[in-house]
Amino acid sequence: MGEPVRTCVGCRQVKGQQALVRLAVDAAGSLQVNPRRWYGRTAYVCPSPGCLSRALRKGTLARALRRELGGPELARLRHLVAEAASGCQDETRPLILRVSAAGGL
Ligand SMILES: [Zn+2]
Repeated sequence: MGEPVRTCVGCRQVKGQQALVRLAVDAAGSLQVNPRRWYGRTAYVCPSPGCLSRALRKGTLARALRRELGGPELARLRHLVAEAASGCQDETRPLILRVSAAGGL
């Protein structure tokens, strides 16, 4: 069997879970990016600023997480996604894999 697949909230493309950035809201209501634990409300987005922007504009991210994201959270999220898009990663985000630069829409 292959790895689980998830749908990006931005472009709606179905991809392998490992190729997407996982966003979750924990029990305390904090936004988590690629958490080690599995939380109930999760959303997946490509490591692409374009997909993140689209998900925010269309409201699909807020709908998936069942809440709006605040300014500081958004700033952090944009930063992390931009880093992931550039292929820059560190050991705290092992799940973010580099995706093809030619991918997306
Ligand atoms: Zn996407």
